[in-house]
Amino acid sequence: MISSEEEQYVCLRCGFNIVNYYPKVCPFCGASNENFITAEECSQKYKVVSSKVNDKINRLNSYPALGLEHSAYCIEIENKKIWIDCPSTFSKNLDPMDKILFTHHHFLGASNLYRGYYTAFVWIHKKDSEHFIARMHHFDKKFNQDFRLSGIEAYIIDGHTPGFTFYIFGDVLFVCDYLIQSGKNFILNPYGSTESTMEGARKLRDIIINRDIKIVCGFNYVKKYYIWKKEFFNLVH
Ligand SMILES: [Zn+2]
Ligand SMILES: [Zn+2]
Repeated sequence: MISSEEEQYVCLRCGFNIVNYYPKVCPFCGASNENFITAEECSQKYKVVSSKVNDKINRLNSYPALGLEHSAYCIEIENKKIWIDCPSTFSKNLDPMDKILFTHHHFLGASNLYRGYYTAFVWIHKKDSEHFIARMHHFDKKFNQDFRLSGIEAYIIDGHTPGFTFYIFGDVLFVCDYLIQSGKNFILNPYGSTESTMEGARKLRDIIINRDIKIVCGFNYVKKYYIWKKEFFNLVH
């Protein structure tokens, strides 16, 4: 339940959760507020479905697809669950998560509701936490350097957003929307400075080049690394 003093809306165009105020337009995509439903209506109309990536990782999506539907990922480590990013839909049918680690502030989803209901801790880079669209969301830890947590490695590369962070767990890479599909091909996300996005892509390349990665988890895809890598390395110069 959302307490009576807290209001929350979900934009059906993009899936962004708007916390504690009712703006005329969606702060993320600019759609008018006729496109908003309440978070409670959202939990009634949509559910969160899970699909297996490997033995320790599941992909989470809203179902039916919601707005610019994006995937979040649940990693199971030592009987705890740690999420990378968060679905737009709030569901009470999921196993409790210990932490939600964000790649950046574009897909915050219903993280504040999960945080309250499951007492999860929400982590994001400090610079991305300061963006105006994130100001009403709650963050427990605002990091500003690379870190390692229960075997998950976090690397800050900046670029697409000032605090963009990618993660590696075992042989799986989590890059959210640093690359997006344009037609048949990948391109570097054009939102953000072209120069710093390329610089971040070089950092990403230099970190993963000697790693034994097998799978790449993106915001709307899961791909075999050897296929993804060919395209990604061609984009970086
Ligand atoms: Zn929107
Ligand atoms: Zn983004």
